[in-house]
Amino acid sequence: MSLGNRKITVLGAGIAGLAVATALARQGADVVVLERADAIREVGAGLQISPNGVAVLRALGLVEALAARSGCARAVVLRDFRHGNRVLKLDLGRQAKDYFFVHRADLVDILARAARAAGVQIRLLHEVTRLDFDGTRPALITAQGARASSDIMIGADGLHSVVRAALNGAVAPGFTGQVAWRAVIPARGHVPAEAHIHMGPHRHLVHYPLRGGELINIVAVEEREAWVEEGWNRPGDPDRMRAVFADFGGEVPRLLEQVHSVNLWGLFRHPVAERWYRGSAAILGDAAHPTLPFMAQGANMALEDAWVLAAALTRHPEPEAAFAFYQAERRPRTQRIVEMASRNARNYHLSFPPLRVAAQTALRIGGMMAPGAALRRFDWLYDYDATLRYPAAS
Ligand SMILES: Cc1cc2nc3c(=O)[nH]c(=O)nc-3n(C[C@H](O)[C@H](O)[C@H](O)COP(=O)(O)OP(=O)(O)OC[C@H]3O[C@@H](n4cnc5c(N)ncnc54)[C@H](O)[C@@H]3O)c2cc1C
Repeated sequence: MSLGNRKITVLGAGIAGLAVATALARQGADVVVLERADAIREVGAGLQISPNGVAVLRALGLVEALAARSGCARAVVLRDFRHGNRVLKLDLGRQAKDYFFVHRADLVDILARAARAAGVQIRLLHEVTRLDFDGTRPALITAQGARASSDIMIGADGLHSVVRAALNGAVAPGFTGQVAWRAVIPARGHVPAEAHIHMGPHRHLVHYPLRGGELINIVAVEEREAWVEEGWNRPGDPDRMRAVFADFGGEVPRLLEQVHSVNLWGLFRHPVAERWYRGSAAILGDAAHPTLPFMAQGANMALEDAWVLAAALTRHPEPEAAFAFYQAERRPRTQRIVEMASRNARNYHLSFPPLRVAAQTALRIGGMMAPGAALRRFDWLYDYDATLRYPAAS
């Protein structure tokens, strides 16, 4: 079924919003995206796009553009913090060709171009403060007091979603006792296409190349008592970051020396939303299931959601039936991923030395005896192909 000129408003021009807008416009819908920022510009740092996310970008015809602006990942290397000694190398093997390290700004730009080419209107400087319901028909209220209503409303408005709050009420997230530092530095010389995770007591640090090895993305997580605000763009102090990771060896000191600007954000645990829709309004991406970064799946889940949501709307004439189908398909999987990401934080941070040595020895032996086994545990995650399960209507 084509969406024949149905009027759809999407709130948020992030990865979820732009992907769902593109998929819907290609099915004939008349789509407007409202975004509070004044431009779609260089914001954010590295994202990992795994085969489950790549499947959606391939179906949207965007993998060549992605490959041209990023690099394939070959392996993930776990290291002990003190001297950077290798604990385990996970070769991505057959999955490497569909596993990319990409700058968030590049992916957003690729999606924004695709959306505009499909006829989507992107309206900047539109901050929405509220979602109201007139019966089942939703309307967005902007900061200027304007009211935007349409046949279907999709909330892709991220972590602090006003649409999720309207569907579920406000739920206060819990501080995890962890903060994350994020920086991008220029690369010096050849950088292998690998993600390195340096695991220490109460801290870990991840780095990987971006833009085919021009840049290096660094994300470093520290456990602390003091609360730090949740948000992607809070500035941090590079010297404080160096002090926190001063006992990390291997290549970490050399990388941290080059950090001149850094962001710091508090990591909060949010429950996956109970209700993903009401009437003809629904949510997706971080608005539905904000996640901790430890499985690198935020953007991938957003892409999967976008595909399934668009497919549901093309199969079910009634939005409410489409959204019920969409929630039933997506909620269990995203909940499993979000829970796994929460558990992963603890695994990297074992602080009691005998426990850490035991865990690392087990990982080493496991890696020698069955190098593929560690990765096969994630087949359910990476082999999921939303586009095969729900082929696009022609
Ligand atoms: C500025 C920024 C930087 C990020 N940097 C990283 C990073 O470095 N690494 C990483 O792994 N992930 C990063 N993320 C998160 C990652 O992009 C998301 O987890 C994932 O892509 C899911 O995307 P989403 O589209 O659901 O949400 P988001 O990517 O958060 O997009 C939500 C969009 O909605 C807009 N919006 C929100 N509220 C309103 C409102 N009331 N009115 C109008 N517009 C609104 C936002 O401006 C944003 O463009 C970043 C997100 C943002 C917004």
